[in-house]
Amino acid sequence: MSKSSILDYTKDELSKIIKPSFRAKQLYEWVYKKYVNSFDEMKNLPLELREELKNNYNLIPLKSAYIEKSKDGSKKYLFMLEDGKTVESVLLPMKKEKYDDDGNLIHQTRYTICISSQVGCKIGCSFCLTGKSGFLRNLTPGEITSQVLMIKKDNNIAENRRVNIVFMGMGEPLDNLENVKKAVEIFSDPLGLAISPRRQTISTSGLSSQIKKLGEMNLGVLLAISLHAVDDELREQLMPINKAYNIESIINAVKEFPVDARKRVMFEYLVIKDLNDDIKSAKKLVKLLHGIKAKVNLIFFNPHEGSEYKRPEVKDVLGFQDYLIKHGVLCTIRESKGLDISAACGQLKDRKGK
Ligand code: SAH
Ligand code: SF4
Repeated sequence: MSKSSILDYTKDELSKIIKPSFRAKQLYEWVYKKYVNSFDEMKNLPLELREELKNNYNLIPLKSAYIEKSKDGSKKYLFMLEDGKTVESVLLPMKKEKYDDDGNLIHQTRYTICISSQVGCKIGCSFCLTGKSGFLRNLTPGEITSQVLMIKKDNNIAENRRVNIVFMGMGEPLDNLENVKKAVEIFSDPLGLAISPRRQTISTSGLSSQIKKLGEMNLGVLLAISLHAVDDELREQLMPINKAYNIESIINAVKEFPVDARKRVMFEYLVIKDLNDDIKSAKKLVKLLHGIKAKVNLIFFNPHEGSEYKRPEVKDVLGFQDYLIKHGVLCTIRESKGLDISAACGQLKDRKGK
């Protein structure tokens, strides 16, 4: 059996494994701040400890298997895990660097990293390639956090640069809640990746009971709901999970979720031609979100081979957005980043992975 990764542990757990406990802090620093690739490089750890760690644990539990670069600057990574399975992550530069007339940097590029939480997914949404390929296994905390670590390293993103994390890659994060929780803790640890929970968004297909649990954990993360439809009939067709957790149950769970005073719950709405792109749906959506501090993010459905659905017309998406805004609902349209590469998650893996 292969060894587990030392990156699966939060700092508290690690300080129970490695004695004395300050060694855990040192190890954290080597991994998350100094980006080392081996135990041998951890020079301030005693040789004996380094040997012991080497014999019992792996360090980084995945390796880069394929990278696709888009013209718009986004980069899609296919990572191979120890057991040969693969997952995807995406680096999305959100705003370009800006300089003033004298050539001084005004603001740096902001990065968002989209990560996976499972190999495959059990939820089986009919529009999603990941869902179609079925479920293989949960990712461990270290396999989740290493996606960010590897991408930061690969792009020379300094350890103290702010990045945003979105759990919008492959898998349903709330179906792997314990490991996702640990990953959030490792991300948030000032000695770990030092990413504030308010820069971490967990996207879910709407497992209402798990949304409740996540809320009770009070991690401070942001919540995104993949709503995609405003009536249960259509939602069941798109997302079979709606039979177990219908729209009403999701809305109720969201209403109880702790939201930072300056933040909102994001509702993702995949716009599909002739299915949910009409003003009647927009109207229902406004009603549904009444009383919730919400923000809607419209996503163009991105067709893939064999998909039965079609990309919506730009004018219909703009019309939908216009209606929401006019009725007091904040609404953005997700830029279709990486359209020239395999944009929606699951598409790179479909071509290159196992
Ligand atoms: N399982 C979670 C986590 C993200 S899923 C969830 O469903 O919320 C991946 C994201 O990709 C979702 O927002 C989903 O709506 C989007 N997605 C899946 N297939 C897509 C497609 N063909 N075109 C555009 N977006 C797609
Ligand atoms: Fe799973 Fe999300 Fe894809 Fe649905 S959209 S199958 S929940 S990854």
